Amino acid sequence: MGQQSILVVEDEPSIREVVALYLEREGYDVATATNGNEAMAHLESSLPDLVILDLMLPEVSGESIARWLRTNSDTPIIMLTARKTEADRVAGLDMGADDYVTKPFSTRELVSRVKAVLRRTSSKLVDSDPQPLEVGHLQIDPKQRTVMIGGKSKSLTATEFDLLWVFARHPRQVFTRDQLLDLVWGLNDYIDASTVTVHIRRLREKIEEAPSKPRYVQTVWGVGYKFEP
Ligand code: CA
Repeated sequence: MGQQSILVVEDEPSIREVVALYLEREGYDVATATNGNEAMAHLESSLPDLVILDLMLPEVSGESIARWLRTNSDTPIIMLTARKTEADRVAGLDMGADDYVTKPFSTRELVSRVKAVLRRTSSKLVDSDPQPLEVGHLQIDPKQRTVMIGGKSKSLTATEFDLLWVFARHPRQVFTRDQLLDLVWGLNDYIDASTVTVHIRRLREKIEEAPSKPRYVQTVWGVGYKFEP
C-alpha cells in the first residue's frame, strides 16, 4: 500500500498548518483546503483516504461537504467542531462523520484518531479471505464492503460496515459497548462509548425495516447489543 492521502479542510490558518505539518511528519500525503469551495474542487477531482473536516467553514459548509461525501463515497471523515454539547457532537456523527474532535484539541490526539480510523478502514480489506455472509434479508460482502437488503444495495459508512461485520460474524453473541469500541475502533483512549450508541442507531436506520423495533441489532438491556440472524 502506498502513502495514504488526507485532505485537511480548515479555514483557520494556524490550525490548518499545524495539523498538515504533523500529518506530513507521520508520513501522510497531505492536501489542504481553506474553504468549502476549495474542498469540493479537490474532492471532485480525487478522493483522499480520509478527510479532516472543520464544521464551521465559509462558503460551502462542513455539513454539506459531509453530506456530499456520504452520498458519493465511503471516505472516512473526522470532524473538527467547536461545539461542545453532547447533542452537537451527536449531530456531527449523524452527518456521517466517523469520529469528531472538539476544539481546542491536541494535535497528538487528532493524529492518534487519524491512525485509528485509517487502521480500521484499510486493514480490513487485506484480512485473510473473508467470505460473503447472508443473514435474513441481508447479503454482506466484506471484500467489496457492501450490503444488499432484499436485493437492493445500501450504502454504509466504513464504521457502520465494520460494526455490522462484527455482529454478523458472531450471531447472538452479546457485546458490550466497550467490546465494540475495541473491535471496531481499536484501542483508542479518546473515543467514548456514546460513539457506539450513535453508530448503532445509524446502522439500524439503514438496515432495519423498523429502526425503533430492530430485528437484527437488538439491545440487551444493561449489557449491550447482540445480532439476531
Ligand atoms: Ca472554521
